[in-house]
Amino acid sequence: MAHTVQESPAKIPGPLTLHGLSVEGVNQCVHCGLCLASCPTFSELGTEMDSPRGRIFLIKSLAEGRIALTDSVADHLSLCLDCRACETVCPAGVPYGGLIEAAKAEMEHRRPGSPARRLFRWLNFGLLLGHPRLLGLAAAGLRLYQTCGLQFLVRSSGIVRVLPRTLRAWESLLPPLPSRAERAPLPRLVTAEGPRRARVALLTGCVQAVVFGAHNRATARVLAKNGCDVVVPEGQGCCGALNAHGGDHARALALARRTIDAFEAARAEAVIVNTSGCGAHMKAYGRLLGADPAYAERARRFAASVVDLAEFLARAPLRGPLSPVPLTVTYHDPCHVVHGQKLRGEPRRLLAQIPGLRIVELTESDWCCGSAGIYNLTQPEMATRLLQRKVSHVLATGADAVVTANPGCILQIQAGLAAQRSAMRVLHLVELLDRAYGAPPR
Ligand code: SF4
Ligand code: SF4
Repeated sequence: MAHTVQESPAKIPGPLTLHGLSVEGVNQCVHCGLCLASCPTFSELGTEMDSPRGRIFLIKSLAEGRIALTDSVADHLSLCLDCRACETVCPAGVPYGGLIEAAKAEMEHRRPGSPARRLFRWLNFGLLLGHPRLLGLAAAGLRLYQTCGLQFLVRSSGIVRVLPRTLRAWESLLPPLPSRAERAPLPRLVTAEGPRRARVALLTGCVQAVVFGAHNRATARVLAKNGCDVVVPEGQGCCGALNAHGGDHARALALARRTIDAFEAARAEAVIVNTSGCGAHMKAYGRLLGADPAYAERARRFAASVVDLAEFLARAPLRGPLSPVPLTVTYHDPCHVVHGQKLRGEPRRLLAQIPGLRIVELTESDWCCGSAGIYNLTQPEMATRLLQRKVSHVLATGADAVVTANPGCILQIQAGLAAQRSAMRVLHLVELLDRAYGAPPR
């Protein structure tokens, strides 16, 4: 891929921003290159402009008005997974996640793309993610599409091959939609078993609620077993993470405000999140809404109360009794758990407490699987390369199942294993914990 950059005559003085968002963090980069070996796209392509250091140079140059937002610049920035592996290893503390989100927001504003692309984004970001009822209806329609044989017809007839690239990728990644019972909302309150430890509020999410409602139910059960009253606040929906990662900044702000409103009313000691991208994003609400006088302080308070499920449970030994789960598993670290929230030991410590479970380490366990929000739809070629790399490491473990903690990773790795005709299962961490508490295997 070429990476020429055009000089722009205008140089804009003042604080460095893109789309009104600060990118001052670019000045923390000391160009040491320690991040390069951890960057999946640099590892695959070997080009400086597809490395964190190269992208930081592009973001700084754009903000200073020294280069134009050419196709080439947009391509290098769009290829970034926002996996934040570079943040984990950076000795200078460059806040890379915020920089790339600002760059993506700028690109969406200045290069919105074709009418078809804008319609696709509006349908997803504007209509479905923002309106849980419509998302529920869409899930019901997709379930019908899958169960009435239409999906089989579309796939076997080859119609799918004439669809636009993004729609083709979307169709191929469509997970089996669960039954209506599994998509039904959770009860507003699940009461603690045994001595009460805390009152927590659970994020049930958007896609998570309609595709992986079973994980939300398992989460409520496991928390209750560990002494938590679990409140499921009304009026919640998408937290805005997918919008923010996709450069849809305005809607990300609106969804963050709605989430805060819904959860404040629950008066819980902690907000528990079982999806990694949402947890990392909600912990950043303080920065996101820092310039909003009505929400800045509330957003900081709210962000401080957000806790990943594994992070919360690992604060104390799991309450017994736990039944044996006789499986060999390996663990894939979702980027926004291990890099976005710096949680590496917590999920492993929980798995280690399950009797009968054998854990084998995964090579490059903290490398992105290529899912990365909607990256596998927008950048299917790189996503497939990274998925194949991930799946080859997963298969080499010989495990019965790969465990992770994010719906996007689950769907992506499932698709990769299916392509290899492997029967290995992909499980959410909470499914195993739930099994250890007596739930039947699914
Ligand atoms: S490790 Fe940090 S300081 Fe060094 S080049 Fe990468 S982003 Fe810059
Ligand atoms: S976020 Fe991931 S893909 Fe993007 S520059 Fe950093 S390490 Fe590379």
